[in-house]
Amino acid sequence: MTLVMKFGGTSVGSAQALRETAVLIKNTQADWRDVVVVASGMGSKPVKVTDLLLDGAHSAAAGDGETYQQNAVLLRRIHHEAIDALLEPEGERQQILAENGRFIDRFEALCQAVHVLGELSPRALDAIGGMGEQMSVRILAAYLRQTGHKAEAVDATELIVTDDNFLNASPLLAETHEKVLARIRPLLAQGIIPLVTGFIGATSDGVTTTLGRGGSDYTAAILGEALAANEVWIWTDVDGVMTADPRLVPDARSIPTLSYREVSELAFYGAKVLHPKTIRPCVENNIPLRIKNTFHPAHPGTVIVPDNGDGDGGIKAVTAIKNLGLITVEGKGMLGVPGIAARTFAAVAHTDQSVLLISQASSEQSICFAAPDTGIQPIIASLEEAFAEELQRQDIDTIWALEPVSIVTIVGAGMRHIPGIAGRIFTALGQAQVNVIAIAQGSSECSISVVVDEKDTGTAVTQIHNLIGN
Ligand code: ADP
Ligand code: MG
Repeated sequence: MTLVMKFGGTSVGSAQALRETAVLIKNTQADWRDVVVVASGMGSKPVKVTDLLLDGAHSAAAGDGETYQQNAVLLRRIHHEAIDALLEPEGERQQILAENGRFIDRFEALCQAVHVLGELSPRALDAIGGMGEQMSVRILAAYLRQTGHKAEAVDATELIVTDDNFLNASPLLAETHEKVLARIRPLLAQGIIPLVTGFIGATSDGVTTTLGRGGSDYTAAILGEALAANEVWIWTDVDGVMTADPRLVPDARSIPTLSYREVSELAFYGAKVLHPKTIRPCVENNIPLRIKNTFHPAHPGTVIVPDNGDGDGGIKAVTAIKNLGLITVEGKGMLGVPGIAARTFAAVAHTDQSVLLISQASSEQSICFAAPDTGIQPIIASLEEAFAEELQRQDIDTIWALEPVSIVTIVGAGMRHIPGIAGRIFTALGQAQVNVIAIAQGSSECSISVVVDEKDTGTAVTQIHNLIGN
């Protein structure tokens, strides 16, 4: 039986968290035999190692020669404190201190080069941004060895082969599977726990890449797929996927089971707990995925199952994305003209911006869609170019954006069978004077999204959350 477990930043964020994580690893190994661990960089909120690394690189590129040095001091302190607290002086402490120190020296040297050149390539950013997990897995592996377990830190640059799309690289499956099996299976056969760096990979030439934010979850799912794992567990700092972001809604509750469709919808619409891309390798291979709380391991957390039918119906969760704009393409001359929608989204695609929600008026006189606010200007410019003729003939009257708005998404696979659910949602919003600007139903029919003024986000989420279970 093979289990892949990923520990997020807070789970490895301090000496105490690392101790608890080590206990969890040992306990699960006793039950599962073959356990593979993936870890993020240390992330004792609010200071995350990965953020310190990236911030150092960016500020150096912007001409600031000091921030990266201050960050290096902080990075040394965070890692050294953990090492001193965990590792015995007569054991591996000195060696791990030296190894970690070399990563931070390299961080400083790279930032210095970036500072001198005044230029930061995506490739350099990946070399810098992935060091957090290279340091954390070495500490955790040494601590496990000290407590009598066989453990080995493995850099995912040896395992995950990606394309060279730096900052958001995609794994090449065949090569990756081959490497994972060749490197990880022999360790497992010897009873050694592999501790793999999350987030990073390497091109086939060995240049370090990263898998994008949330990338450590992706690492776990990729390893799960390659090893044909029985389950993948994501350990984090909350009791699984909750009915709402617990930071926004204090009485949010843990959801026992969610289908892949539901969690994808939640993740796509802002529930930061899981990135949709990262769970695909599990979805496609029917590998159950569990989200559990490192600080509350007895809690069952959430199980993501391939499909749990329609569940007991009703609303399961609510989520929100802020900082968006709603773009409208509008004109009487659009009526019945074929291809307007296709041309609209082709023009958007040219800008490389992502569209989060589309809603078309039934009169066909307007199309509107939401996109991150940073993409609004380029999208409008691209649309104005694509529809220059229509604008001139006044077939299209205006292309405009409403900002700032949020999308609030209500998720639950059983909702479509419950009569009047949309009515209850709109009543609840109306009662709190939240104006609904646009509506869209998810294609999988397990979500409904509404666009609201950004200032109404919190109220809208709370109002809808009150409907859950009632
Ligand atoms: P990790 O470092 O373990 O990967 P993340 O910060 O990526 O942790 O994800 C966990 C966080 O996601 C939680 O601490 C919580 O603040 C946030 N979150 C947002 N929406 C939800 C939700 N619906 N359920 C659970 N957590 C959520
Ligand atoms: Mg995460």
